Amino acid sequence: VSPSGTPPIRRQVPVLVVLANSQRPRRAPHARQGRAEDHFTSVEQANRLLAPLGLTRPIAEEDLDALSALASEASAVASSLAAGRPTPTPTVINELASRALGHRRLEIRNGAAESTVVWEYSSAACELANRLIQELGALDSTRLRECARPECTLVFYDTTRPGTQRWHAEDPCGWTERQRRRRRHQP
Ligand SMILES: [Zn+2]
Repeated sequence: VSPSGTPPIRRQVPVLVVLANSQRPRRAPHARQGRAEDHFTSVEQANRLLAPLGLTRPIAEEDLDALSALASEASAVASSLAAGRPTPTPTVINELASRALGHRRLEIRNGAAESTVVWEYSSAACELANRLIQELGALDSTRLRECARPECTLVFYDTTRPGTQRWHAEDPCGWTERQRRRRRHQP
C-alpha cells in the first residue's frame, strides 16, 4: 500500500494510457466518426499530449520518431494484455529504456546512511520508456480494458474498488451506451 493508501494494482497507469490512446481515434463531441491524430509530427504537439505526465526531460525534435514508435508498441502491448492475447516482444520499449544511467547516491539523514538510486535519462523518450515499464510491472492486466462502447477503442485502467468499469469515460461513452440500451428495451 502506497503512502496515499491506494493498493498498487489500483494505482493509475498514466503513461500506458496516454501512449496507448495517442494513436487511437478520438471522437470530438457530436462528431459521428472518431479521428486519429498524429501527435508526434511536432515538438509542440508532442508536448501538448505528454505535458500531463510531467516529464523531467524536455521533448526534442530528435525524440519524435522514437516517441511515435514507443506509442505504437505501448498500444499493441495494451491491446493484447487487455484481450489476454500473447503480447508482442517489447523491443522498442526495452531499447529506449536501456539508454538510462543509474547510480547510487549516499545520503546521511539523522546520523543514518541511506542509499537511493538516481536515474539519468538520456531523452524524454528514454524517461517515458522507463516509466512505462515501471507501470506495466505493477499492473493488474484484468483491470486494463478497451472501452465497451463498440465505436470506441480507447484503453483505460479500472481503478474502481469493484473493478467493474466498462467505459473509458462516462461522457460520452457511458451515457451513450445506457441511452442506447434503454431505447432497445422500450416496446
Ligand atoms: Zn469510450
